[in-house]
Amino acid sequence: MVDQKMYELGTRKSTIRDVFEYGRKLAAAEGEDKVFDFSLGNPNVPTPEYIKEAAVDILQTMEPSAVHGYTIAPGAPAARRAIAKSINERFGMEISEQNLFMTAGAAAACTICFKALCEAEDEFLTFAPFFPEYRCFVESVGGRLVVVPAKTEDFQIDFEAMEKCLTPHTKAVIVNSPNNPSGAVYSEETIKKLAEVLRGKEKEYGHPIFLIADEPYREIAYEGFTVPYIPKFYENTLVCYSYSKSFSLPGERIGYIMVPDTVADFQQVYGAIAGAARVLTHVNAPSLWQLVIARCAGRPSDISTYRENGQMLYQGLIDAGFTCVKPQGAFYLFPKALEEDDYAFCERARKYGLLLVPGTDFGCPGYFRAAYCIKTDTIRRSLPLFKKLAEEYKK
Ligand code: PLP
Repeated sequence: MVDQKMYELGTRKSTIRDVFEYGRKLAAAEGEDKVFDFSLGNPNVPTPEYIKEAAVDILQTMEPSAVHGYTIAPGAPAARRAIAKSINERFGMEISEQNLFMTAGAAAACTICFKALCEAEDEFLTFAPFFPEYRCFVESVGGRLVVVPAKTEDFQIDFEAMEKCLTPHTKAVIVNSPNNPSGAVYSEETIKKLAEVLRGKEKEYGHPIFLIADEPYREIAYEGFTVPYIPKFYENTLVCYSYSKSFSLPGERIGYIMVPDTVADFQQVYGAIAGAARVLTHVNAPSLWQLVIARCAGRPSDISTYRENGQMLYQGLIDAGFTCVKPQGAFYLFPKALEEDDYAFCERARKYGLLLVPGTDFGCPGYFRAAYCIKTDTIRRSLPLFKKLAEEYKK
């Protein structure tokens, strides 16, 4: 009677949601201070004042039909012009509004790109650990997600493993840096090597291989780590960007796709993006937030809380005996679990009110994810509990 795949997707809870809901129940039963919820990537830093001021001013001074009406499908020209200007100034690009397509966040941006590119038997590669929604997005458009095993020493790319996964069916490679869940930032060296490998394979297979750069965490990178702008290194790059994290606006759904002129068959790709958005009933990105972005694109994000949280949690975990790659960007740590079975480990952590997500959910068993976009004080109070948890394993 109904599509079983859709039914399963709609009713099967993700572990992340499951852990989050468990936390809400625990808080109701035992008190908020007994819960240390590291499960969700919901930004806790307040939305910048200049964003709120712009939204209020737009609502109070502009014609309602200009604020709440439909925009053209690719998005309000003023928003796209402001984004193009900011990208050109920051990354030395030469793009215009014609290279941009406004979307309802990065999830929509990625899904639209997958739908636009996917033909029969196409494969989309990504690297473990990866954002679990990629599987559902790729499969929803008829593609196959191929996962390259993780390079756990530093969560950069294992190129030997990657080359084994590339086939003539590879349509695109999805990269996410700064990464959810590892917190790693791909170095310039990694991106250059990736571009070289893909160019070689494009020649060998005789067709383009697109790089889809999913970048909702671009602005959240710490001292010593620069996030290379991938279109500068690889012609066939599509950038999927979101203001969910940089401006703490995840519920407002605003982002964009950037298609540089260097992309093979630009007109075809941009046209297919517009078509994919149309059949996915995207209509247009939220118009109020497009107007806000027209005024605020490129303004700075305050990442000081994430920096402090990341350092404190990292040091606390290292002192307790965990192994973990240092925070480089985004707001996640991805330490090694203290037993092979990451589900059993996360279950044990729950006893202390520590709510963590097993690495298996991100295609990387034996690890766990801790999202540190929470109150700094909660992290401070959690550290003795991580220590107690680690001591259990030393007995
Ligand atoms: N991609 C990654 C890697 C994410 O972590 C997220 C959200 O957490 C998204 C995409 C979706 O972001 P948005 O809220 O912009 O749709």
